[in-house]
Amino acid sequence: MLVVQKFGGTSVGSVERIRAVARRALLTKRAGHRVVVIVSAMAGETDRLLNLAQQIAPRPDRRELDVLVATGEQVSVALLALAIRAEGGLATSYLGHQVHIHTDSAFSRARIHHVDANTLFTAIGQDQIPVVAGFQGIDDEGNITTLGRGGSDTSAVAVAAALHADVCEIFTDVDGVYTADPAICPDARKIARISYEEMLELASLGAKVLQIRSVEVASKYRVPVHVRSSFNDEEGTMVVGEEAPMEKVVVTGVTLDRKDSRITIRGLPYRAGIQAEVFRPLGSVGIVLDMIVQNPPTAGRMDLSFTLPRADLAQGLELMRKLAGELDAHEVVSDERIAKVSIVGLGMRSHAGVAQRMFDLLAREGVDILMITTSEIRVSCVIDERYGELAVRVLHDGFDVGKHAG
Ligand code: ADP
Ligand code: ASP
Ligand code: MG
Repeated sequence: MLVVQKFGGTSVGSVERIRAVARRALLTKRAGHRVVVIVSAMAGETDRLLNLAQQIAPRPDRRELDVLVATGEQVSVALLALAIRAEGGLATSYLGHQVHIHTDSAFSRARIHHVDANTLFTAIGQDQIPVVAGFQGIDDEGNITTLGRGGSDTSAVAVAAALHADVCEIFTDVDGVYTADPAICPDARKIARISYEEMLELASLGAKVLQIRSVEVASKYRVPVHVRSSFNDEEGTMVVGEEAPMEKVVVTGVTLDRKDSRITIRGLPYRAGIQAEVFRPLGSVGIVLDMIVQNPPTAGRMDLSFTLPRADLAQGLELMRKLAGELDAHEVVSDERIAKVSIVGLGMRSHAGVAQRMFDLLAREGVDILMITTSEIRVSCVIDERYGELAVRVLHDGFDVGKHAG
């Protein structure tokens, strides 16, 4: 088999942990498999680097920021290659550009266009374990790019796809994908198998165990992904093509996202095309909106609310205040302390009344719902951040989510 193994920040967080990773990769190799390893920066390193930049420039230039944060992974690939050699194996470290991980030029959120597998195949052919830096790539002009937080997952799946690997193993600090974040829901259970589609929703709604783009790539190229613990040998979670959901399972997982904020424009004069005028300036600076709610106009004016990443709030507010002046709206207000709680499950397609039940469960705890969105397999509610963790536990319990996972 050809196995791609990815180790996250905690898994390479110390010299001892790096030695353990080296032993695991070698064990797989010695069992007769071909192995490629992808690693993240050591735990806390990417945050430390971002913080340094922040101290020098509040809004650092994105190209320079990518040059900076990509260094975290350079340290861990070299240390791991040394550790594998120290254990008697053959290993060579590679940075993103050395194995031709080509991306677009969207610094700090670049997308992988293409991975040229030749260098890696050559190394594997020489009995090496190639150790590849996650999170980074190179654009057409030769600039270093990074793939967004958690991007090593995507590096791993893209490399697995390019090599036609049999499996992409994502080693992390939990035993697999859980029915809710085990850090906030003690009753959460490990899910044995989950479809790409459900995993995509969970990842995009706040379950950071896999970066969303890694799931997109896995689904597109049908890469089987095995999410498992780097601390033990237990089976983790297999992320695979769609399976018939179990009869009784309506909700597969519950997520909490605390990365968004909300802007409300009050008393916006109503006319055809006004929404396009409001959102154009946000789109032109690359701010991605999530939910949008519009109240019906009264006396020719309406309120418009939308959510956007907290990191973009200051810039979004500045743009909206300027626009409100030009359009003669009454006021612009914002709220940073919101959270989005979501329930996800393929089973929702065939069950009625799921949203209703979610609203009931939240209402019983006195949690106000500020905004709602739904898709075929999920329902999301924006609530006050204070109630976020409580809401997760209440929904997990109310839908018996942990009981069916296995
Ligand atoms: P790594 O450094 O290995 O990439 P991450 O911190 O990015 O690890 O992702 C693992 C973390 O994701 C876990 O420690 C856990 O707290 C969090 N998490 C959130 N939701 C889930 C979930 N549904 N299942 C498993 N882990 C989750
Ligand atoms: N080191 C990067 C981060 O902290 C990438 C990753 O860990 O996947 O986001
Ligand atoms: Mg991660």
